[in-house]
Amino acid sequence: MSEKKDEILYTYASNVYLNITNACPCNCEFCIRKTTDKVGESGSLWLSHNPTFEEVKAAVDSFDFTDHDEAVFCGYGEPTMSFDVLIAAAKYLRQKGIRTRLNTNGLGSLINKRDISKEICDNIDTISISMNASDAEKYEAIVHPVFGIKSFDAMLEFGKECRKYTENVAFTVVDVISDDDIAQCKRIADSLNVPLRVRKYSTEY
Ligand code: SF4
Repeated sequence: MSEKKDEILYTYASNVYLNITNACPCNCEFCIRKTTDKVGESGSLWLSHNPTFEEVKAAVDSFDFTDHDEAVFCGYGEPTMSFDVLIAAAKYLRQKGIRTRLNTNGLGSLINKRDISKEICDNIDTISISMNASDAEKYEAIVHPVFGIKSFDAMLEFGKECRKYTENVAFTVVDVISDDDIAQCKRIADSLNVPLRVRKYSTEY
């Protein structure tokens, strides 16, 4: 395990990532947190505390974005667990002319006990939601959300709501599930008018 702490901003494969919380209501079978504490050349992505907006701002300000026009909120945790910092940081990045992307488990409205889809879409340019499975039972078996069986429908609802506010929303699945399951995920995504992206399993969060 690497020693460095509080790696709020790191780069991997030419992307810039913002690690704003380690908190997450899930325990996905494939979560890279089970196997490593770093991505690429990053230091440890375990944070000593949830960064404040001022700490995220300082990390952004100390990074040279000359060769980058986008920053990706992508945990080592679920970014919507730190919702106020997420929105404040997204607004700040937009002010600086930097596009933003959110990689999320799609449970942010359950986490925050209100529908956050509009605020997310108003402030973040691209939303990527992990669908992970083709039905509620399989989802629960893979993701192990603290919210239980209702989580799958809540994740789909979040995608559906986001689609009202932006075209730049997609569901994702990792190619570790069966072709039949991927086909079913595609049918669900199509029914919600949201694209489905199939990702190769990798160490990218
Ligand atoms: S939602 Fe993301 S951070 Fe949370 S357990 Fe799943 S893969 Fe890991």
